[in-house]
Amino acid sequence: MSKGKVNQPPLHKVIMVGSGGVGKSALTLQFMYDEFVEDYEPTKADSYRKNVVLDTEVCQIDILDTAGQEDYAAIRDNYFRSGEGFLCVFSITERESYDATEDFREQILRVKNEEEVPFILIGNKCDLEHKRQITKQEAINRANQWNVPYIETSAKTRTNVDKIFYDLLKEINKKKSPETKDVNFKRKACKKKRCFIL
Ligand code: GDP
Ligand code: MG
Repeated sequence: MSKGKVNQPPLHKVIMVGSGGVGKSALTLQFMYDEFVEDYEPTKADSYRKNVVLDTEVCQIDILDTAGQEDYAAIRDNYFRSGEGFLCVFSITERESYDATEDFREQILRVKNEEEVPFILIGNKCDLEHKRQITKQEAINRANQWNVPYIETSAKTRTNVDKIFYDLLKEINKKKSPETKDVNFKRKACKKKRCFIL
């Protein structure tokens, strides 16, 4: 191990995806700095790191806040390949952004090519109830179909902001734990040989 890496806590890579204007940057900055930023440059993608405590263990979260560059397939695929978990955000006030989550989901699964990718469907701007276009039930149905959680957030009021990041980290962590790795490894091997796990 190189000297610089000694005592570095384990790193978990999270990618924010979703249409422009849904609040990806606002959620990220609220989580990182406890601030609601109303006018973050919409075309700026950036990444952030901080230490967090997960079930008594310190780990590092690395958040990539994407910003439309993923329209270029090659860039998008690289982003998605590097991610270990995904927060797929739409705005509850904008149907188009909800529809777009289907494309993001599809692209992520295609690039990751894994059975279970840590992924949460996020309905942001839940403080704007009077402008709601997507009912909770509708979003829950889609999440159930995908077998992922659905969580509503507000970057403005900080509702569920910590929860989405911590829940996702827990899923990533679980997937990386030695026990799960062992099962995944056996599954893959069995897939190749067409056998069954009893
Ligand atoms: P991004 O393009 O997905 O990164 O979206 P931004 O984070 O830049 O947010 C777009 C706009 O929506 C900004 O004006 C934000 O202030 C606003 N916004 C983001 N999240 C919320 C929220 O939870 N509630 C409200 N009311 N506005 C939000
Ligand atoms: Mg942004």
